This record gives sequence, C-alpha cells and structure tokens, in this order.
Amino acid sequence: MMAMRSADQGRDIGAALDLFTSLMNHSCDPNAFVFCEGAQLRARSSRPIAAGEEITINYVDPSYDYSFRQKRLKPQYFFACQCERCRIDVMGQGPVSVHLRSRSPDFEDVQGQLLEFHSNLVQSSHEPCTLEDLRDKEDQMGLIGTAGFLNNGWPDYVQPGPEILQSFALIYLLQDELERSLRLCLKLCFIIGESTYGTSSPQWVHILSVLVQVLAAMVHRPKANPPSGTLSKTKIPLPEIHGACLCQFAEAVKGMYGADSAFARAADQLLEWEMNERRKLMSNDGFIAQFRKEYSALFQWADAQ
Ligand SMILES: [Zn+2]
Repeated sequence: MMAMRSADQGRDIGAALDLFTSLMNHSCDPNAFVFCEGAQLRARSSRPIAAGEEITINYVDPSYDYSFRQKRLKPQYFFACQCERCRIDVMGQGPVSVHLRSRSPDFEDVQGQLLEFHSNLVQSSHEPCTLEDLRDKEDQMGLIGTAGFLNNGWPDYVQPGPEILQSFALIYLLQDELERSLRLCLKLCFIIGESTYGTSSPQWVHILSVLVQVLAAMVHRPKANPPSGTLSKTKIPLPEIHGACLCQFAEAVKGMYGADSAFARAADQLLEWEMNERRKLMSNDGFIAQFRKEYSALFQWADAQ
C-alpha cells in the first residue's frame, strides 16, 4: 500500500495497492520512483541501474534528515534503514548532516511544529486572504523555526523549509501576488537544484511547473499584473524568460517521466503553442538563443533581493 502524489503539484491524492511496486525495497538514495499517470501506476529509473543491482524506491521523503526518516519508517514499515546514505548520515558525514550540526536540542520538536504549520497552511490555501495575512504567516514560520537552530533561524534548505516555501509560492500565485511567487520559485530552484533532490527529481519538475504558471500569468495577463517594484526597473523581457523556462520545463518533464508520458506530451503542446506565438516575432533559432540568454538576468534579479 502506498500513498500516491499528483505529478503536477506533488500533493497526496490517495493510496494504491500494487503487487509489482510492492516488491521494491526502500532506499534513502533510491534509483527509481513510482508515479501516477491517470489511473496507471508507473515505475521509472531515476539514474542508470547496473545489471543485477537492486531496484529501490523511497517510502519516505529522502530530502529529510536521518532521524526523521528513521522515525517515519519504523512505525509504518517496521525496519531501521541501513542504506548507504543512512550509514554515512549516522556518522555525521553526509552533506545535510554538516548543515545540521548547529541544531538546537529542540530541533525535532520544532520540525514537528513546522510540519503542523505546513499542513494548516495547505488546508487554508484556497481561502481568500490579504497580502498582509500571507506576510504574517511567513513571519510566523520564521518565528517557529528560530528555536530549531542554535545561531540563526531555520535554514530554507532544511526540510520542511523547501516544502513550506513551495506551498507559499503556490498560494501567492493563487492570490495573484506574482512577483512574490516568482521570487520564491527562483529561490526554490536554487535550493532544489543544490539539494539531495537535484535537477532530476519530481520536486524539480514541480517547482518549474509553478514557475511556468507565474510567468505565464505575467506574460499573458499583463494588464491584470503590471510589473511593479524592482522587477519593472530591471527591464527583464518576461516573454523570453517565460519561453526559456518552458523549454527547461519540457526537457525536465521528458527526462523525468519519459518522452512517451502524458506529462511530456502536455508540456510539449504548451511549448509549441508558446513558440508559435513568439515565432511570429522572430526565427526559431533566434527564439531559443534569446530565451536562454535572458534567463540568467532573472536569476540575477532574484539574487539581488
Ligand atoms: Zn536509509
């Protein structure tokens, strides 16, 4: 029995019982993953697998720290994970363990409070709220997290930090607070790209999908969302940025779910539609080159915040 997550937003959408995927063991550094495509459950490798190598998937989110993973696995699956990554983590040598050395004794309590905060945030995400309400909630998250670390606040890259930021990015998008959503998306691109998730993970595809939606709203509804603040001063050409992001998104979806998947076909359709719109203005090669060139300007803007 496994919890199933939607491919577009990464939220739990139900549970499934499947004999084939039930044969796969857990690893905190798995070489495969399972996902839903409509009513179909599919398994796919996330990196090259050698002949005779065991195929593993993750039963708990591998981006969480060692003690969190063990605590989740024990009561639900009745084993203590001894995968290679857990062996490295327990010796305090893993990449995340280095960051976690300044944890306070209350770290686990605070992590639990942040998870509860996140679940409330998600539940109330469709309720109408003001920009001030959302700013207050972001401050509240900061306040809860402070007690988890000795020197500074809860780092953005320590879970559930990235999960909460992604929910905020989506909520700001729903509330048409596009520049705030855009900044959070770009921050998450750095965090996810550099973290255990990496750029060949469903999380990477999710954050690109939010980024594409934010930019689409800015480009195709400019009257409702005129650029303001620092973004308007940069003169960053948003249509080009949106196109570059769409190219990256379509590539990421193909790499993740396979060129024959429904997701890849949908992403290609979106890209084709956008390219046809833009092609009226410039040649195909010029279009791609221009998109890629402008993309870095946006990251510079986000960095300067
Ligand atoms: Zn493990």
